[in-house]
Amino acid sequence: MKSLRILVTGGAGFIGSHLCEKLLKEGHEVVCLDNFFTGRKQNVSHLLDDKKFELIRHDITEEIRLEVDRIYNLACPASPVHYQYNAIKTVKTNVMGALITLGIAKRVKARILQASTSEVYGDPAVHPQVEGYWGNVNPIGIRSCYDEGKRVAETLFMDYYRQNGVQIRIVRIFNTYGPRMLENDGRVVSNFIVQALKNEEITIYGSGEQTRSFCFVSDLLEGMTRMMENEEGFIGPVNLGNPQEYTILQLAEMIVRLTNSSSKIAFKPLPKDDPCRRKPDISLAQEKLGGWTPKIDVKDGLLKTIEYFENELKK
Ligand code: NAD
Ligand code: UDP
Repeated sequence: MKSLRILVTGGAGFIGSHLCEKLLKEGHEVVCLDNFFTGRKQNVSHLLDDKKFELIRHDITEEIRLEVDRIYNLACPASPVHYQYNAIKTVKTNVMGALITLGIAKRVKARILQASTSEVYGDPAVHPQVEGYWGNVNPIGIRSCYDEGKRVAETLFMDYYRQNGVQIRIVRIFNTYGPRMLENDGRVVSNFIVQALKNEEITIYGSGEQTRSFCFVSDLLEGMTRMMENEEGFIGPVNLGNPQEYTILQLAEMIVRLTNSSSKIAFKPLPKDDPCRRKPDISLAQEKLGGWTPKIDVKDGLLKTIEYFENELKK
């Protein structure tokens, strides 16, 4: 494929930094834009010497003029702890961020992909979740800034497509994990691994019977880039995730085992509106994205992530 100039908003975050790395390896020029709210320069410091890499500190709620061929719009804190820290800012990042990046795409005729989320399904009444399901989202709860923000972003993407012919792509990402998640990120995989490595209590919220399906970051990226570059005009939305479903209790036990930890489990109150179960139906992605399917088994992905945190904790 020819070399493209690609903007990654949220490029210094967990998924974004792996995406920048992958795109550079494929020979593209990458403009990484981030305000470093939950991202870190450290995540991309190994890329700074690459002539094809550019890092811009910028908040995507503010206008910016850039000339690019592709935009991956990832800017938005993803951990409930972080997106609830400043809920109004989260809505703003989702809505203004979509308007500003779609504005760039429209002006320079770039193709643009939105990192949407399984949270658009809310606490789902349909299981596993299919793209045709409209969801069960509380519009006024503590998760709404993220869920509704991402839903409005999807709406804006569809309206720019219908009204202005912007080439859009929408992916709905299910729980993704891997190296470069923050130690204090608040999400379940990083929390449990850090707690297990420190032999501290494993904090299960609620009974631990709620489920999630965990996708390793490299599998997600393969789906995302295939979606961006599909030339059949398939715009989504499409689910991307690993359908292997685990209860949170099973996840905790697995991590304790894999780390040989002496941690004990402690049950804590369940946050409000925490979805009971989540598992993607990925048949649409498999059909439309050249047989894409997650390859990394959860145990193997967890071992890679554990190794990363072991090194981080030594620093
Ligand atoms: P992350 O928090 O590590 O990354 C988000 C990045 O966006 C960070 O680098 C942060 O500093 C940056 N950012 C936040 N607000 C910004 C703003 N106003 N302007 C510029 N940059 C801003 O999270 P992640 O897991 O890498 O998630 C990346 C994207 O994927 C997010 O949009 C998230 O909603 C989506 N997503 C992730 C998951 C997952 O499980 N990891 C699931 C569903 C959707
Ligand atoms: N969770 C938990 N202990 C933790 C962090 C999270 O039991 O220390 C639970 C949380 O209540 C939810 C699931 O793990 O049911 C996944 O939480 P996460 O914040 O990773 O992502 P979500 O899928 O809820 O956005």
